[in-house]
Amino acid sequence: MTTIGHDQQLQTSSSSAPPLKKRTFSGIQPSGDIHLGNYLGAIRNWVRTQTEYDNIYCIVDLHAITLPIDPQELRQNIRRLAAIYLACGLDTRYCKLFVQSHVRQHAEASWILGCFTPMGWLNRMTQFKAKAGENQETVGAGIYMYPVLMACDILLYQTHLVPVGEDQRQHLELTRDLAQRFNHLYKQEVFTIPEPLIREVGARIMSLTDPTQKMSKTNPNPNSRINLLDDPKTIKQKIARATTDSLRLIRFDPERPGINNLLTIYEALTERSREEIEAEFEGKGYGELKARLTEVVVATLEPIQRRYQEYMRDPAELEAILRAGADAVRPIAEATLQRMKDVIGLG
Ligand code: ATP
Ligand code: MG
Repeated sequence: MTTIGHDQQLQTSSSSAPPLKKRTFSGIQPSGDIHLGNYLGAIRNWVRTQTEYDNIYCIVDLHAITLPIDPQELRQNIRRLAAIYLACGLDTRYCKLFVQSHVRQHAEASWILGCFTPMGWLNRMTQFKAKAGENQETVGAGIYMYPVLMACDILLYQTHLVPVGEDQRQHLELTRDLAQRFNHLYKQEVFTIPEPLIREVGARIMSLTDPTQKMSKTNPNPNSRINLLDDPKTIKQKIARATTDSLRLIRFDPERPGINNLLTIYEALTERSREEIEAEFEGKGYGELKARLTEVVVATLEPIQRRYQEYMRDPAELEAILRAGADAVRPIAEATLQRMKDVIGLG
């Protein structure tokens, strides 16, 4: 894993003036409870670099309908995710926050780019295989086309950097390939070629119950993840039940995924070195590691949960923030979409 792109040559669309700062774009699906993996792999990093970049962060609701979801739940999840973004520290002075379906250009661009996407490229996407599983014949086509919509999300904003977790690396590669292919086909710089921004620590948090799989919102087992809104008792129970092994030795070791994952979460939250952490638990048992980890998780989440409750008390304010965000980004998306249509010969 690398931190990439800081000295990359800026490439901007000739149709818009280059921004003063590099632009970041990223998003989370309102498909379930937001968990520690989403926080450590994505949101925390967005917050930390928000003054450095020109940021656009999205609630990608069109992605959340790729798997069945109850309408009430989807609506709730959108509002909750907005409150979580703000509670984690995203600041509207530095970030534009919006809901994907409020900017219609995403869906329109996605149809167009889909027509330029070789089927073979989509067939190679591992996340489709993982999510569709045995149901490849019956799942909706949206889950297959998801990477094209994600590419449009990024490309519409002439994004330079995409801060995401490790699981999105393959989709980012596809986005770059699609953008390069389109630019090349029409011999014009319609799209900026984006770079992934994947941090070394926290980019891949694993499930607590099956540490060979990543922690996910849509895993049907609630014990597999720690949600940002879990109360201390639930967090304690989930960590106590987390899969370990019988070796009784506390070491970072990818061959021992259970312990390795607990230590990785501890490392990401305490921001201490691996040597220091192994020294702290020298001669100690798994019970002590789990107890310390519980303390650190609870202490991290407590202020986030407090702020979350405050934002949730004012739905009108949340709505106003999201509306202002959509109004601010729509012209950027429209300029790129118009350029796509112009070079293709549409309209
Ligand atoms: P879903 O099961 O609906 O796909 P998810 O947990 O994978 O949910 P996404 O909305 O797909 O969450 O991803 C949002 C962001 O969180 C992305 O940047 C993704 O890379 C990151 N992310 C998701 N899971 C993890 C994880 N386990 N560890 C680190 N980062 C993660
Ligand atoms: Mg996902």
